Amino acid sequence: MNTVQTIETVERPRSVEQIVQGVATSDGAGVKLTRVLGQPLQQRLDPFLMLDAFGSDDPQDYIAGFPDHPHRGFETVTYMLAGRMRHRDSAGHEGLLQSGGVQWMVAGQGVIHSEIPEQQDGTMEGFQLWLNLPARSKMTPPWYRDIPRERIPEYATPSGATVRVIAGASNGVAGAMQREGTEPLYLDIALPAGSSFDSRIPATHNAFVFVYRGAAQVGGRRIGTGRMGILSNAGDADGVQLSADGAARLILIAGKPIGEPIVQYGPFVMNTKEQIFQAINDFREGRFAEAIDAPE
Ligand code: MN
Repeated sequence: MNTVQTIETVERPRSVEQIVQGVATSDGAGVKLTRVLGQPLQQRLDPFLMLDAFGSDDPQDYIAGFPDHPHRGFETVTYMLAGRMRHRDSAGHEGLLQSGGVQWMVAGQGVIHSEIPEQQDGTMEGFQLWLNLPARSKMTPPWYRDIPRERIPEYATPSGATVRVIAGASNGVAGAMQREGTEPLYLDIALPAGSSFDSRIPATHNAFVFVYRGAAQVGGRRIGTGRMGILSNAGDADGVQLSADGAARLILIAGKPIGEPIVQYGPFVMNTKEQIFQAINDFREGRFAEAIDAPE
């Protein structure tokens, strides 16, 4: 891992506008998860539509997985902290998502896929983020990319924080994925006790953190394990300042708002009800996912 010696500083940090406790729910064939970002926050956190956190060492909580299901109109980003998940899609592609890896999928005009644990016991932990597509890209041909752990750039700061750059760029380190339009930043940050870390974020972008180990100080507020902090959008803020008294781990996510109507019906996210009816019809009549591309 490289150590980045010169760390960008933040002069006018964002504050925490709201601390959110997720809602326990289940999805797929009965996978227990916490919906941290759901429909009530979609407008506020545009372009992000959903964040689910899952984490259990009880196979009953995850073993059934997510059998065949469709998506249209957005991107899914699955980040595995621990565990093994086999994915397959209707075009015959298959891959294994393992600890520390990411699957980035652009569902676009339509995908049918399954996500099934490939383990009988042990811990399964990670996140699934849904990132919206602008109207002009909702019907783009689908594709996905598997990014194994070793392909995600990681660096350390002089104060000992380590940062995995999943998307966007951080302190001059380009992430594993770059997306036009929404320009997502997705960092996984480990803060040792007593350390701090600044991250620049464009003032126009919506941003949040989710703490999954320990507690972090963010803009003067303490955010505990399993809590999301929504960062305020002050017009002149240039980023966020993070610190931790004890060891903490969190993800920091930011993106450029799309500013278009959001109409969601389950796994379809479009701009109008008519487009949702079209998606349902297309799915029922078998017009989904004949050709998803899996580059590399
Ligand atoms: Mn899915």
